Amino acid sequence: MKYKSNTSSSLVKRASIRAISPIIALSMSITLVINTFLYYSSRQVKVVFHLLAVLILLIVSSAYAGDGDYHDLGHQSDLVGGAGVAYNSYVSDNKKVVSSIAQLGEPLAAITGGCTQVKNLLGSGTDPHLYRLSRADVLQMHKANLVMNLGLHLELQMQPILDDMSLFKDVHSVGDMIPAKRLLEVSPLVFDPHLWMDPLLWLNVITIASHQVVKSYPECKKTIIAGLKDYTKKIHDLDSDAQKAFQAIPAESKVLVTSHDAFGYFGKKYGIKVLAIQGISTDRQISIRRISRLVDFLVENKIEVVFVESSVNPRDMNAVIEGAANQGYKIDIGGTLYSDAMGASGAKEGTYIGMFKHNMRTILNAWNVEDHPFAAKEA
Ligand SMILES: [Zn+2]
Repeated sequence: MKYKSNTSSSLVKRASIRAISPIIALSMSITLVINTFLYYSSRQVKVVFHLLAVLILLIVSSAYAGDGDYHDLGHQSDLVGGAGVAYNSYVSDNKKVVSSIAQLGEPLAAITGGCTQVKNLLGSGTDPHLYRLSRADVLQMHKANLVMNLGLHLELQMQPILDDMSLFKDVHSVGDMIPAKRLLEVSPLVFDPHLWMDPLLWLNVITIASHQVVKSYPECKKTIIAGLKDYTKKIHDLDSDAQKAFQAIPAESKVLVTSHDAFGYFGKKYGIKVLAIQGISTDRQISIRRISRLVDFLVENKIEVVFVESSVNPRDMNAVIEGAANQGYKIDIGGTLYSDAMGASGAKEGTYIGMFKHNMRTILNAWNVEDHPFAAKEA
């Protein structure tokens, strides 16, 4: 979203943009603050905020209408609308990057090797489909020059604020940059957002994100290129081990049952049939019919093991197990998988590679696969 023009014919346009930039910047700031408050406020408070915003905008607009010297003040910003005038005062020179999900932020932190400070908004056990930004989150984004999220409707509740912020700050929805032909289309123009479940596809996303960091912080280019090379090898090794492990299992035995439909790319990549109680998002009510259809399938196909997810309440999976028990069929929980959130920061499972290895180990052990490459739990 950076705006740069080198043509002389654009000088008048640039001057105009600069002249109105404080108004746009303040308008966007006020909109952002209001949007944040609206999540938490009563109807009366919302009305008061709207009236206050209109009043402030009228005052600011009239004040700047008479300020013909503003665009000669020497403010420099390459952000659309010159919002950097309003926001650069918040930004210290610490190369901050804010990421919504840790699956994106943690690899970026590893690749940028300390040249940037990467802050993940969503911690372990947090469901990105349902997460709403806090005021502290918005402040973190204000302080960063670069904000990244996945997009593809993953961060449903965060999206309105991210959209507002993208008008005056570098906000990149990196999943949206992947060509549609590589995505799983679950209904017309609705794509599965759980791209990290396919390591090579996720490597593409991480590579795109890394290039965005280089654009924002060119002084980190050398470090990032070296870090990306190293990370690329690790991801290829991970994928190769996963392929080997699943190749040894007969196709009819590879049925993965989880709480919600987060493993579509994983299933496609490794030839696994995936079934879930809920669809690709957890923001919908689960129908009793869907649960009973799943119970019937598990009983008919003699599926003995299902998995719960760290970021999804296990209540509905327990209902499935109970439903099967009512038909005289016993189903066990094979373990907890990391689907939409990684493990705790600082733990092995708090890294993308560690999370993937944990999932592989949990699935393969529950399926009674012996001597697989993920058998040993790393210290
Ligand atoms: Zn999900």
